Amino acid sequence: MKKKYWYDYLWIVTILYFTLGFFNILFAWLGMIMFILPLLFAIIGGNKLYCNKYCDRSRLFELLGGRFSLNMAPPPFLRSTWFRYGFLAFFLTMFGLMVAYTYQVFTGAPLRETVTLLWTFKLGWSTAGVSSVTPWVAQYAYGFYGVMLTSLVLGLATRVLYRPRSWCVYCPMGTMTQGICKIKHRNDAK
Ligand code: SF4
Repeated sequence: MKKKYWYDYLWIVTILYFTLGFFNILFAWLGMIMFILPLLFAIIGGNKLYCNKYCDRSRLFELLGGRFSLNMAPPPFLRSTWFRYGFLAFFLTMFGLMVAYTYQVFTGAPLRETVTLLWTFKLGWSTAGVSSVTPWVAQYAYGFYGVMLTSLVLGLATRVLYRPRSWCVYCPMGTMTQGICKIKHRNDAK
């Protein structure tokens, strides 16, 4: 039996994160750690160690394995540069719009106590703890949780059709860190 390491259990982080955020949206801010860490690994180390070992999301997909999955090979277009970078551009644009609305709330716009799933569906969400912080802090939490939930749902849907870690083929974070590593290695080689 394959020896287990502590990072094999990082899938717990995903479960905890979404559970805590379900009851108190302010926990969504913890997701910034999962957002910044892969970038730091890529920028400082020039590697994808985060993806290869420490990503809680991919650990969850590995844990689920081939269960409830058609286990097909991902279609070639998912791996294509145009699709991966196009999806990254779309993801970053939606992220930018979320940040822009947070700024509007900072300048007086009303707080929207909803989580947006798949950039379309507005889900009413718990307001627990929201009154204890300034509105823009809560707005960012709602927006960021929507981003994280959307990527989780896309990842789960992808693994139902394809192999367990097929989401990693076009995950925006994976595309970004791969791009950073390429640039870093090119510069180091000069
Ligand atoms: S590609 Fe995305 S989901 Fe996959 S390991 Fe990297 S950060 Fe995690």
